[in-house]
Amino acid sequence: MEHIPAADRYQQKMQYKYCGNSGLMLPRISLGLWHNFGDVDNFGTATDMIKYAFDNGVTHFDLANNYGPSPGSAEANFGKILKNNFQGYRDEMIISSKAGHSMWNGPYGDGSSRKNLMASIDQSLRRTGLEYFDIFYSHRYDGITPVEETMQALVDIVKQGKALYAGISKYPPEKAKIAYEILKSNFVPCLIYQDRYSMFTREVETETLQLAADQGAGVIAFSPLAQGMLTNKYLHGIPENSRAAKSTGFLQKDQVTEDKINAARQLNEIALCRKQTLAQMALAWVLKDERVTSVIVGASSVKQLTDNLESINNLNFGCEELNVIENILVQINK
Ligand code: NDP
Repeated sequence: MEHIPAADRYQQKMQYKYCGNSGLMLPRISLGLWHNFGDVDNFGTATDMIKYAFDNGVTHFDLANNYGPSPGSAEANFGKILKNNFQGYRDEMIISSKAGHSMWNGPYGDGSSRKNLMASIDQSLRRTGLEYFDIFYSHRYDGITPVEETMQALVDIVKQGKALYAGISKYPPEKAKIAYEILKSNFVPCLIYQDRYSMFTREVETETLQLAADQGAGVIAFSPLAQGMLTNKYLHGIPENSRAAKSTGFLQKDQVTEDKINAARQLNEIALCRKQTLAQMALAWVLKDERVTSVIVGASSVKQLTDNLESINNLNFGCEELNVIENILVQINK
């Protein structure tokens, strides 16, 4: 049966922010489909999470060609969920996809060549059943393809109407700078820069955040919960139903280190004083930076998503609080 979205979905449940210098607003919290939406996952839970997100003002859904497993299945499942439940709501959604990581066999199924991007967006459109993506990203700088070639492909994708905006992900600053300039000179300014950013991974603070701001691009942070380590999930070991325990998860057990867990336990105490969960405080901490447009959270249940979306109710930090947090984080970021 077609889902009837909550009538009050835009009434103070979510906050929206203009993405860089563009006229496009994104929800401060977006939902990512990297894990938990593939054909190894529960389709009912995946459907419920999309419904819950949309009912609570999440208008942005982040995909990539290779999300699954199997690769491509997250796009196919998302397409099915849209078709079954959200016909008539396409104009209320921002749907992104990406190309650049290993996707199909042979020399053209990986990397950031024009050949890869052009074929990939057509495949992604077919899998999702969409007529266009709102944002299409170069998923990574591949170390070989000239940035000019990849950016020209993004420009053409936008000019062909297959995507409305272009984005780049995980570009080293010197390559990002070239990318911004090429896109701008072709009148397809880079809408958004996507990279990993959380209390546990802060490389973007050195150069990347300011570069995006200077170039008028928004920033969207992925893995803002450090794949679950910045939640209460691992405070007492690695539970069976966790990403770190699953064979299909990208979080390896040896990444769940003692120093991270110790830090998470201390951060959890601060979160409790703020009357938040650790997940909520970790998201608020990323969102406090004016240059960050949105965080892309992952979730394996509606309960987790509910927890995460509540962070929006308290995004403020006092100076003292920030100092205490900083003292905990320097221990692990040393
Ligand atoms: P998070 O850091 O938000 O981790 C999500 C995972 O943490 C969940 O799947 C769940 O894991 C656990 N979790 C989430 N909320 C809670 C909670 N409230 N309580 C307890 N556990 C919780 O993000 P992801 O690493 O999933 O990345 C988010 C999105 O970012 C991706 O879906 C993708 O769209 C994008 N991304 C982009 C990349 C790029 O290269 N551009 C790379 C990676 C991600 P569990 O299964 O253990 O329950």
